[in-house]
Amino acid sequence: MENRAVVIGGSIAGLLAARVLSRWYSEVLVIDRDELSDPAAHRKGTPQSRHAHGFLARGLQVFDELVPGYRAELIARGAVSGDLLNDVLWYNDGRLMRRAPSPLGGLNASRPLIESVLRELVTAVPTIKVLDGVAVTGLTTDGHRLTGVRTEDGEYAADVVVDATGRSNRGPAWLADLGYAAAPEDAVKAGIVYSTRQYRRDPEAQDFTGIISGHYPANPVGCGAAANEDNRWLVTLVGFTDDPPPAEPGAFEDYAARLDGPELHRLVRKAEPLTDPVLFRIGPSVRRRYEKCDRLPEGFIATGDSLCCFNPAYGQGMTVAALTAQWLGKCLENGTDGLTNRYFRGAGKLLGPAWELSTSADLRFPEVEGPRTPLQRILNAYIGHLHRAAAADPVLGLQFLRVANLLAGPESLLAPKMLWRVARQFRRSA
Ligand SMILES: Cc1cc2nc3c(=O)[nH]c(=O)nc-3n(C[C@H](O)[C@H](O)[C@H](O)COP(=O)(O)OP(=O)(O)OC[C@H]3O[C@@H](n4cnc5c(N)ncnc54)[C@H](O)[C@@H]3O)c2cc1C
Repeated sequence: MENRAVVIGGSIAGLLAARVLSRWYSEVLVIDRDELSDPAAHRKGTPQSRHAHGFLARGLQVFDELVPGYRAELIARGAVSGDLLNDVLWYNDGRLMRRAPSPLGGLNASRPLIESVLRELVTAVPTIKVLDGVAVTGLTTDGHRLTGVRTEDGEYAADVVVDATGRSNRGPAWLADLGYAAAPEDAVKAGIVYSTRQYRRDPEAQDFTGIISGHYPANPVGCGAAANEDNRWLVTLVGFTDDPPPAEPGAFEDYAARLDGPELHRLVRKAEPLTDPVLFRIGPSVRRRYEKCDRLPEGFIATGDSLCCFNPAYGQGMTVAALTAQWLGKCLENGTDGLTNRYFRGAGKLLGPAWELSTSADLRFPEVEGPRTPLQRILNAYIGHLHRAAAADPVLGLQFLRVANLLAGPESLLAPKMLWRVARQFRRSA
């Protein structure tokens, strides 16, 4: 066992990393600047918590692997489970994907429930301690490796320090204070705005547990609506900064009429609102390429949104946080020598597919700036045909969902049997 690990940030990525580290370090100290005592609270450090948070199927698998019993506990607390292809209405490029029973299980819960159940299970490990209400202000070093963190109250020694401070992370600035050059960054600015309102749900009133309508160039208005615990619908409308979804009651429901299918508009017109709408302007997607740095202090790790944050419309953040925590565990199986470089090299590769997928979808919009890779160009030229065909063929819909849920690579959509099925639907409709 190594001595102490410090994790900065006690949200999803920090908690998952802490659980992994507890197998290798005799003490794990999680420090968060927010008070964490109220499990249902929307806290300042996670302003995204009022908005719909969906799990990708891959993420749910890895959460359960890292924190055994997580899924069962969420369901016991009221999370709504369903079949991702059969129980969710997916509108892609204006087409409703054909519903059919599938092996892809989904789970809907509010973000405070997702996080508080995770915190409860992770902090049940006796060697994991949480120091809340304390902000980290910097890192300490002996000139070669990190020796700990500095807080408003004093210093905490550590053999490894994990930056899990999220989207607005200070990691690069703290490293700069120690004389390290900034990591190169890839960034794509999609210019997305979310507006979210909650409604009372009558479980008998609909035969679906979610509606996902992707925004696309011909109709840049989307939504993610999910049946949550306590018989609530959490409805998030998505638009661009120049035509954002409104935060005014009434206008919110009118905006829903612009979605491709009628179901969500019907739902929000009839259901009893439980909250006012809340806005969130999403910043750019940023991938920090620590693996390209010439020099990093030994013992530094970054995970979750502080390593890579995405356009949340594709629901990848929590899954990627789980995948990088899992990778950290694999690295520790080979000891702590060269941990920082080994971790970032592997994490860089692991992030690639999720980054390609979400930025390809953003780069379908001609006004969104960013480099378009050859695979992205091919996929973007073809994806509309796939969506049209998936309205009739659930095999295509299932493979699309497997890719979107990070269970298969995007190139699998171009496999000969997929191309043949797309062509067959094209001939039939012609
Ligand atoms: C609107 C929106 C919707 C989203 N929807 C989805 C979704 O559907 N599915 C999905 O998988 N992901 C979604 N995400 C992404 C998801 O919220 C994050 O990927 C996930 O929470 C992991 O984030 P994190 O733990 O890295 O950071 P965060 O959750 O942002 O937490 C960072 C933590 O660090 C703490 N902190 C910050 N600075 C300091 C400091 N100096 N000292 C101590 N503590 C500090 C904060 O208090 C906070 O607790 C969404 C994001 C947004 C913005």
